[in-house]
Amino acid sequence: MSKPSILQKLNHPLFERYNLNVQIKRDDLIDPIISGNKWRKLKYNLQHVQTKGFKGIISFGGAYSNHIHALSYACYKNQLNSIGIIRGEADYANNYTLSQAKKWGMNLQFVDRKTYRQRDEEEYLQELSKQHPKYFIIPEGGSNTLALRGVAEVCEELHLQTQYDTLLTPVGSAGTISGLILGDNNQHNILGIAVLKQKNYLHDSVNTLLKNDGKSQPMKNWKILNDYHCGGYAKFSHKNLKTLKEFSAITGVLFEPIYSGKMILALLDLIEKGYFEENHHIVLLHTGGLQGLGGLIEQNKLKKDEWPLPLALQAL
Ligand SMILES: *Cc1c(COP(=O)(O)O)cnc(C)c1O
Repeated sequence: MSKPSILQKLNHPLFERYNLNVQIKRDDLIDPIISGNKWRKLKYNLQHVQTKGFKGIISFGGAYSNHIHALSYACYKNQLNSIGIIRGEADYANNYTLSQAKKWGMNLQFVDRKTYRQRDEEEYLQELSKQHPKYFIIPEGGSNTLALRGVAEVCEELHLQTQYDTLLTPVGSAGTISGLILGDNNQHNILGIAVLKQKNYLHDSVNTLLKNDGKSQPMKNWKILNDYHCGGYAKFSHKNLKTLKEFSAITGVLFEPIYSGKMILALLDLIEKGYFEENHHIVLLHTGGLQGLGGLIEQNKLKKDEWPLPLALQAL
């Protein structure tokens, strides 16, 4: 399947009780491997790299990064070289995520935390460019100006698919929500759920990304909620898992507990608190990321028989 991604109605007793219309945009189904928002974010980056004649792409990520996974496969499919600067020890190279990236030809370079922290610094990036001429550098999470253009297309598709009041998305590095804000152009409420503990730097990230895009008109229709990280990035409780499994059983849609699952936990809590008025029409963006389940199972954070991977990932 490709684009536009499917928009699907979700049925759940809670939605009925509060008289809410909830639909989900299945970006997790755009591509069997490059799922969700990473596909959107890479689209114009790949085009740029190909039209400008770069040899390959360099980017950054943690040991189980969805972005690194998606990027390595996208480069493999497009006959581009890829280099992944990975935070942590070299033995991560054999983990669920990185062993696949390696198989798709990514050159994995492991760096300590101190080096990794320089990933957005001009001097460090210039050094990398010197070491690897003709490689295009994409920031962690794939969030740059070109990524915003790809994500903005979600809004164009939605415009033709439905009428709605609020669009919900998980927020990591803020590229996705920034793209949605850009594409939406003050038409709907955009509600982001921060998946990591933070103060307000995500708001600054959004403003920086939008400013880089040359958007002069202020965008006011968005908000990031900070109370749904469940203890921090990739943290979750047994109860959170139980809630998510129940929700998946009722709706028939699978979520992972690092990103899309936290959006679902937030949605359920917000509804119960009366956050949305009656007849409110909500669209959830399923950002994908289901390969993350493989890593969580490998680390014994999830039980294999309770969290079946999608078939395309099982076949890898
Ligand atoms: C990367 C990722 C996000 C976060 O997107 P940002 O653009 O970094 O905010 C959300 N959901 C999934 C599944 C992801 O892999």
